[in-house]
Amino acid sequence: MAAAEPLAIGVDVGATKIAAALVSRRGEVLAANRYPTNRQQGTAVVMDTIAALVNELLVQGDTAVTGIGIGSPGWIDPEAGIVREAVNLDWQDVPLAAHIQSRITCDLPVYVHRDAYAEVLGEAYFGAGQGCPDFVYLGIGSGLGGGVIVNGQLVTGADNHASEIGHLSLDGHGRLCNCGLHGCAETVVSGTGVVNQAREMLDSGAYPATLLDTADLTSRQIIVAAEKGDGLATAVIQKTACWLGQIIAMYAIILNPRRIVIGGGFGKEAFKLLLPDVRDVLRQRVLRSNQESLEIVPSKLASSAIGASCLVWYTPSQTII
Ligand SMILES: [Zn+2]
Repeated sequence: MAAAEPLAIGVDVGATKIAAALVSRRGEVLAANRYPTNRQQGTAVVMDTIAALVNELLVQGDTAVTGIGIGSPGWIDPEAGIVREAVNLDWQDVPLAAHIQSRITCDLPVYVHRDAYAEVLGEAYFGAGQGCPDFVYLGIGSGLGGGVIVNGQLVTGADNHASEIGHLSLDGHGRLCNCGLHGCAETVVSGTGVVNQAREMLDSGAYPATLLDTADLTSRQIIVAAEKGDGLATAVIQKTACWLGQIIAMYAIILNPRRIVIGGGFGKEAFKLLLPDVRDVLRQRVLRSNQESLEIVPSKLASSAIGASCLVWYTPSQTII
C-alpha cells in the first residue's frame, strides 16, 4: 500500500480572525476552520484559540500531519519562532512556536514566519505565482503586507523586515497609524483604511453618498456602492488605487518583477475596481519598459491558511521556482 500523502496544518493569525486549514502536499484544503482572534482578551486566549484550531485539525489529519506553519503579522524571528513585535496584535516578544507546541496534542515542529511571507510562498507553490521566479505578492486585508520572490527565492532581508510595505509612510501628514507613524500605506490601502477614508469623507459632507456612517460600515459595502457609481465610494476606491499604484510602481522600478499578485480579503474583492486606476498610475509614473509587460493578477488561493501550511515544506534559502 502506498504511504499516505504528507499533510500540513497552516494557521493565519489575523487581527480580527484566525484561519486554519489541513492542507495536502499538493495544496488541497482537506478541512478548515476559523475563529475570532479576540486579541483584547489577551495573548494567552489567542494562543488557546490557535491551539484549539490545530488540535481539531490534528484529529482529522492523524499521523499524516508532518508539521504546523503559522503566519503572523509583524516582525518575526523565524529561527526562534518568536514574534518580536506585532502592533496590530499588541504583541512584543511572544514565543509563538513554544506556546503552541506546549498546547497541542502531538509532538510536531511548529514554523512561524511573517504572514505576507507565508502568503507569497503559498502563491509560489500553489497559486498565481506558480512558474514565475520573479513576482511580488501584496496582501490587502485588515492591513497591508508584501512578500517578494526574486530568482525563485523568498526575500527576507537582513532582519526579516524586507517588503514591510504596509508601514511605508506615503503622507507624513496623513492619518496616525497603529505603528506610531503618520500616513502609512496601510492607513489607505487596506479594508480598515477604506472604511476610515469613507468615514472622513462622510463627515466632510463633500461628496454625494448613499452610504451611512454606521458603526458596522464595512469595506464590502463600500465596494458594492462604488460598483453602483456612488460618488463617495468611488472617490475612496480611486484614492486607494492611487496609493496602490504608487506602491506597485516602486516594486516595478526596484525589482522589475514579472507579476504582481493581489491577495487578501479586500484585495481580491476590490481587484477589478482598483485595476484601471492602478494601471493609470503606472503609465504616469513608470517608464514604459518597466510596466507594460508587468502582469497584475488576483490571488488564486481560497484560504490564507494555505500559505501558512507551506512553511512546513519550505527551507530557508531554498529556490522554490
Ligand atoms: Zn504604520
